[in-house]
Amino acid sequence: MPTGHRKIIIAIDGYSACGKSTLARSLAKRLRYLHVDSGAMYRAVSLYVLEHKVNHRDVDEMQQALNHINIHLSFEKDGQVTWLNNENVESAIREPRINEIVSDVSTLSNVRKAMVAQQRRMGKEKGIVMDGRDIGTVVFPEADLKLFLVSALEVRVERRWLELQNKGIDVSKEKVKENLLLRDQIDSTRSDSPLRKAEDATEIDTSYLTPDEQLQIAYDLARSVIAREVE
Ligand code: C5P
Repeated sequence: MPTGHRKIIIAIDGYSACGKSTLARSLAKRLRYLHVDSGAMYRAVSLYVLEHKVNHRDVDEMQQALNHINIHLSFEKDGQVTWLNNENVESAIREPRINEIVSDVSTLSNVRKAMVAQQRRMGKEKGIVMDGRDIGTVVFPEADLKLFLVSALEVRVERRWLELQNKGIDVSKEKVKENLLLRDQIDSTRSDSPLRKAEDATEIDTSYLTPDEQLQIAYDLARSVIAREVE
């Protein structure tokens, strides 16, 4: 990447297990940008809800809880680390118990408001690749490049199942499929910031593309936007 180029904001959205975070991480690395996995923040809120037995369906109780939730992201050599009230929760937020409630917790407007405000602050300096569900539609509607990833359900199931196996978490493919479908449904039908493709997003079907092929497509798109920026 030429030095002195104007930095841009890249939004990557899509369904769970389509490879968003993997692509966002490698693209950010190649561009020497910051990668923010916004889902980690909703996961951290969900961890707090579970650990403090918060009734998240009670708006006041949830608001009280939010006042005690401080999420911080640090960016280390191996990627993003998520901190909840000064505790490193990067591995705890990936546990299956979080997958069970995270989409429910993410429907709440007060939760979304707090997360979106923090995410927008991270984009101030530009030079950022953020992945999530509402990045191109709500967090950065003015993003310079928006990608929307889709993938065949069976491929997503296999991907998420392998990820869990590699972490030593034994769960059936049927259960993984059930959870993905449930989260798709909750994420895309919620009233506040539903998951949808922004009109100006480029859709990439990652079903039969290797991570390197996905990276090349995204990198070429980013380069052409950056080239336009410097003209
Ligand atoms: O990307 P990840 O699977 O870690 O996201 C977990 C959940 O967080 C999603 O299923 C969705 O409910 C929520 N989420 C969201 N908005 C984002 C990112 C994640 O609602 N920008």
